[in-house]
Amino acid sequence: MGELSASLEVCPVCGHDQFVKLSILWPELIEQWQLSPDEVAYINLQQGLCCANCKNNLRAMTLAAAVTKAFGFDGILKDFCVSHQQVRQLTVVEINQAKNLSPFLEILPQYALHSFPQLDMQRMSFADSSIDIIIHSDTLEHVPDSKAALKESLRVLKPGGHLFYTVPIVVGRLTRSRRGLPPSYHGRPGVYRDDCIVHIEYGADFWCEIFEAGFREVSLTSLIFPASVAIHAIKGA
Ligand SMILES: [Zn+2]
Repeated sequence: MGELSASLEVCPVCGHDQFVKLSILWPELIEQWQLSPDEVAYINLQQGLCCANCKNNLRAMTLAAAVTKAFGFDGILKDFCVSHQQVRQLTVVEINQAKNLSPFLEILPQYALHSFPQLDMQRMSFADSSIDIIIHSDTLEHVPDSKAALKESLRVLKPGGHLFYTVPIVVGRLTRSRRGLPPSYHGRPGVYRDDCIVHIEYGADFWCEIFEAGFREVSLTSLIFPASVAIHAIKGA
């Protein structure tokens, strides 16, 4: 993994420097998603390149890097959650466990973990302008109306609040809805859970719906491109 260690020296979550690489995609999913061999390779990295210590994969590590960077913290998420005085005063909602970030995020005094679909992301139970940070990873593609979910995040975030998330993105093509296509499920091969059904396959125009939902500022973080992209959207003051 020489080419990888060049771009990922230490895990942005826990600081360890050993990584393992698992192959995640399976033939049925590759066929439904119509992925080329190059696309299979980078999506396997996104999902299967993991820190040997904290077990977070590349998408979760990239999300961690986006969060610390947004607060100007030059260090790992573990230290950020323990010592960053500003973030320790903020309300943080994680929706579904973003791989294995929860053990680090739960150190934050005002952290809460919620589950999708029990928490309907299109109609969340939170008051307007009540949350500082929302985090989720590879969940939005399972929401029937992703733009409604983004609008809802905008509603519940405080002015200046942050939404951090990842979705699987195939950068060489445009976003497509799976409406009218045979059902496709993420998760594990042969497991067809309703909350794992894919409603939208994101492509290079993934950012449009964020602005369409009303956000006015979006930034991206990548640790290994195009394998990982984390999205950071800010609610205007
Ligand atoms: Zn780690």
